[in-house]
Amino acid sequence: MENKEVDILIVGAGIIGTSIGAELARRGAKVCVIDKGSVGMGCSYGNAGWMTPCFAMPLPMPGMLLKSMKWLLDPESPLYIKPSLSLDLASWLYQFMKAMNAHQARRAVDALVVLSQKSLTEYEKLGQKYPEIHFQQKGLLMVSKTASGVAAAVDELNYVKDLGVPGKVLTSEDIQQMEPALKSPLLGGVYFSKESMAEPLRVVQALSKEITSHGGEIIENCELKEIIINGNKVEKVLTSQGEIRAQTVVMATGSWSKSLAQQMRLRVPILGGKGYAMIVPPLAQQPQYPMMLVEKKIAITPRENSLRIAGTLELVDQDFSITQKRVENIKKGAREFLHLPADLQVQELWAGLRPCTPDGVPLIGFHKNISNLMLAVGHQMLGLQSGTGTGILVADLIEGKTPFVDMNVLDANRF
Ligand SMILES: Cc1cc2nc3c(=O)[nH]c(=O)nc-3n(C[C@H](O)[C@H](O)[C@H](O)COP(=O)(O)OP(=O)(O)OC[C@H]3O[C@@H](n4cnc5c(N)ncnc54)[C@H](O)[C@@H]3O)c2cc1C
Repeated sequence: MENKEVDILIVGAGIIGTSIGAELARRGAKVCVIDKGSVGMGCSYGNAGWMTPCFAMPLPMPGMLLKSMKWLLDPESPLYIKPSLSLDLASWLYQFMKAMNAHQARRAVDALVVLSQKSLTEYEKLGQKYPEIHFQQKGLLMVSKTASGVAAAVDELNYVKDLGVPGKVLTSEDIQQMEPALKSPLLGGVYFSKESMAEPLRVVQALSKEITSHGGEIIENCELKEIIINGNKVEKVLTSQGEIRAQTVVMATGSWSKSLAQQMRLRVPILGGKGYAMIVPPLAQQPQYPMMLVEKKIAITPRENSLRIAGTLELVDQDFSITQKRVENIKKGAREFLHLPADLQVQELWAGLRPCTPDGVPLIGFHKNISNLMLAVGHQMLGLQSGTGTGILVADLIEGKTPFVDMNVLDANRF
């Protein structure tokens, strides 16, 4: 690569970086997106593919304190925080506990639903233009075998129903009729009718096509090494392939953001929320709906010729190792709800790190001291569902337009 000069440089070609790149390229900016690997091969590769505004809950919801204490002690729980003496973890957990209050949760959910709904409208359009992303609006089932699980699903509905996310409470019989692939007995659940899904990698690839077809450029295997700051501006960035100068630099580096931000004297307390997804052959009784198995926190996504089973959240710092015991727990949990064969074959097993901020809300906006540096990181469990909305939001902020969502909640400088 020769040294370059562009309007906007975006670092990271996951769902967030490509959403921002596509939106800005459509608006006529000269955009360059770089990635240290290949497009969409970070956390955006193998997620559950859900575009579900109903799941706008940040991780530190009120009432989580006791649960998180229990997880600390239970490596088999669907959410696990490995005890460690790391200062980063201690400070992250302190901020996490602080964020567990009703006021903060309400503001977070309001903002994340707006961002997710905006994104959903964009994905509908993307699905029409790129049928290969397999955008489908089938709705989403939350199903449970326990009273506390049903109560959690109903709570979720109550939290979002006034924000224009329709859903209805279902009895065990309703669910069995809708989704015969589920084992009985079930106790109940909720059906959210507008929720959607697509193939996550193909979505990133479609957005990449949008970038290049609007004159933008994507450079793979190009790692950001250093940001050179002059006064209160980024002067240029040094990459593994050469120098790039840009009017605005956007960081969309997901779970890698903490150490990169340290270079810029910015506190970005992002840890990885490790999750696993496995692709298995279609079941004899293949589910028709995407489903959340509430008490197991397992996501089931029916695909054309297979099924994706995803779950667990294990707080780590750049650790991509696979813990077989946790994978077995996901299978065991799924087996309680679905007729999985005894010799279940896993065609693909993948681990990804969700970029998790302690308050469960992304960091979006300009750096307070570096006027041409924008952050768009920390989309935790909902990077896909809020991706294209983030693209529009970042493009609006760069163009000086009024943002469509409460920026106090998303403030990039809040930590
Ligand atoms: C099991 C699982 C299931 C999930 N299910 C869903 C779901 O159904 N719906 C949903 O909305 N979300 C889901 N998520 C979360 C979602 O996948 C993430 O929120 C999202 O992928 C984050 O996107 P991103 O673009 O911020 O990060 P990434 O996709 O990780 O992209 C960051 C990119 O930055 C690049 N990069 C990093 N450092 C540098 C550097 N120095 N130079 C150049 N490039 C660099 C990386 O190579 C990477 O490609 C799930 C996550 C997991 C793990």
